[in-house]
Amino acid sequence: MKMYDTKLLDSSEESIMLAARLLKDGEVVGFPTETVYGLGANAFDGSAVKKIFQAKGRPGDNPLIVHISGFEQLDGLVTEIPALAVKCAKAFWPGPLTMIMPKSDKIPDTTSGGLDTVGIRMPSDKTAGRLISACGFPLAAPSANLSGSPSPTTAQHVFKDMNGRIPAIIDGGFCGVGVESTVISFEGTDGIRLLRPGFVSPEDLREITENVIIDKGVTESLGADAKVRSPGMKYKHYAPKAEITIIDGDLEKFRNYAIKNGNTDTALMIFEKSDAEGIDFPALCCGKTDEEQARNLFDVLRELDNIGVKQAFARCPSKSGVGLAVYNRLLRAAAFRVIKL
Ligand code: AMP
Ligand code: MG
Repeated sequence: MKMYDTKLLDSSEESIMLAARLLKDGEVVGFPTETVYGLGANAFDGSAVKKIFQAKGRPGDNPLIVHISGFEQLDGLVTEIPALAVKCAKAFWPGPLTMIMPKSDKIPDTTSGGLDTVGIRMPSDKTAGRLISACGFPLAAPSANLSGSPSPTTAQHVFKDMNGRIPAIIDGGFCGVGVESTVISFEGTDGIRLLRPGFVSPEDLREITENVIIDKGVTESLGADAKVRSPGMKYKHYAPKAEITIIDGDLEKFRNYAIKNGNTDTALMIFEKSDAEGIDFPALCCGKTDEEQARNLFDVLRELDNIGVKQAFARCPSKSGVGLAVYNRLLRAAAFRVIKL
């Protein structure tokens, strides 16, 4: 792989122009979105997109989401726009919702991971929108982490994983949402199939149609060989070095479990400081609300590695609303280790 002297850019007009120039030349650039940082390349250019897979070490059958900056770009990318997709776009775009639709020939197989469909999203982050517009083409972009690691919510996270692997990263500060986009498809249903939960919750989608199916892969482990609707769901994901166990029970049970089973190599992932009062292990706060937990989760997972503990006990997210997205990511980070008390 070609090595780069990775530059951290601000989000000034000059930086956007520099990044757009690199992207036009077929390079890969890290950039902020409202969900997590993305690793972008020209979605129409198969050899540019290939560099994303190389930089991340991402399996080639794991498709990339194509990011647009205006509704008018959608037409050329897909061969069919279901009526429900139009309704969802009106309700949630620009924003953290990805919709899977049949792809047009303009999207190379490298971008779609060999599938005949493509996931499209219009981010609401202003810097992302400015960058896509300056390029004049849509950006294929997965999260800007090394494959298998927690997604990046700051430019520094991206730098840690991608230093030397890409020419530039635009710093847009901490991501507001903190977990990747909600992914939905319309295939095989008159309604909406939720493939990956995100900030746009099942409850939000039910405002569009009553018929929202939550795919099995959202809360269950799928084998590596399983034929899955959302290929990303079968891979090891978001995992820090520490072994995480989710403790599904009330605060008292969580505290008792931690005291009984913890040791000098244990950290706690809690909602608020008082959860760990009187317990001597390092404790990382994810936040009280579902939204705060979504924003902080990946930073906390990365912090576990910085502290260097061997195991972590995590309080269980709410599993509803945005909490379902937090639970889905934490389940994978914990390799599906859940203790129900
Ligand atoms: P990431 O870019 O890392 O957030 O991952 C994007 C995820 O979106 C993939 O891992 C898939 O699970 C899902 N995805 C993207 N495109 C498609 C598609 N055409 N069909 C099904 N799932 C998709
Ligand atoms: Mg990812």
